[in-house]
Amino acid sequence: MRLFDTARGEVVAFTPPPTVTMYCCGITPYDSAHLGHAAVYLTFDVLQRRLRDLGHETRCVRNVTDVDDDILNKARELGVYYLDLAAEEMARFDADMSALGLLPVHAEPRATSAIPEILSLIDAALRTGHAYQSGGSVYFDVSSFPFFGRLSRLERPEMLRLAAEHGGRPDDPNKRDPLDFVLWQPSLPDEPSWESRWGPGRPGWHIECSALARRELGDTIDVHGGGRDLVFPHHECEVAQCEAVTGQPFVRHWVHVGLVELDGTKMSKSLGNLVFVGDLLKEFEPMAVRLALLGHHYRRDWEWHRADAEAATARLERWRAAPRGPGPAALAAVRERLDDDLDTPGALADLDRLAAAGQPVHEGAALLGVAL
Ligand SMILES: [Zn+2]
Repeated sequence: MRLFDTARGEVVAFTPPPTVTMYCCGITPYDSAHLGHAAVYLTFDVLQRRLRDLGHETRCVRNVTDVDDDILNKARELGVYYLDLAAEEMARFDADMSALGLLPVHAEPRATSAIPEILSLIDAALRTGHAYQSGGSVYFDVSSFPFFGRLSRLERPEMLRLAAEHGGRPDDPNKRDPLDFVLWQPSLPDEPSWESRWGPGRPGWHIECSALARRELGDTIDVHGGGRDLVFPHHECEVAQCEAVTGQPFVRHWVHVGLVELDGTKMSKSLGNLVFVGDLLKEFEPMAVRLALLGHHYRRDWEWHRADAEAATARLERWRAAPRGPGPAALAAVRERLDDDLDTPGALADLDRLAAAGQPVHEGAALLGVAL
């Protein structure tokens, strides 16, 4: 199997062990899942399906960021307890993902479940000289980790721009270097707070994924990823804090998924141009939405058009009209396409061709998670 690896910047041979450990960065449950989320989790789903088809066991962990600025701000705005908001949105998210036919994840741990692991990781970073206390917070010292930037391969000005865009506060006067990032921070009076040796507070954003990945899957994981907008700062910071403390490689293979756009702009909460999965599921059958997403290669950015779901509905009808029965040609075609950097658009084209020739396609569709 060949798969693009972000760290190496090219499609490389992917040689998975018998049990493949995977960690996919999950949601902050303060709003409904949009198509960008669905595209990410569907990619990890299709990868798992092919690995299982090849006889591997997969353990895919997807965290839930149930404490951060976004969820605390939204809970404040709505006047509700932040964990009640999280519970409601997580239930909605799980229902949407299961409607799309996603395999259940191995574990879906919450950031608030990992406070002891987070505290011990921060403690280890301080003891080994990779972190420092300042102004009531604990920061990771990027100058202590010579490989900072190896994953994203960005120049410093671009790193600073992205850090600022993602809430990294490069102008925080307590930092030694504007790229240093928060591991532990004091909570505001109305925010949740946990006791620590550095004073009461709450974790920074990046530390939860390192702590949860190590707790659930060990020091080195086979596949890690998420949306491409997480490469920097989130994943770069995860690598730094993990490898600085453990001395082990954190991730063998990085998988990042392209962004979904609407009217030429990235779909994002802050821009308010979201297409929610739940809304689409009211209008189209779940397998049509799944097929519409599979029609785009996971690595490329693409623009959502309503016509995609209509075309996918028509495609489903054509495939359903194909004869039932064993379909070795369809299965072989889909396997070959998936082994070529998860080429789902190619797989759909092959199945179209076979269906048009009156051959069975349902086994090939099933490997893509599309139930006919
Ligand atoms: Zn993460």
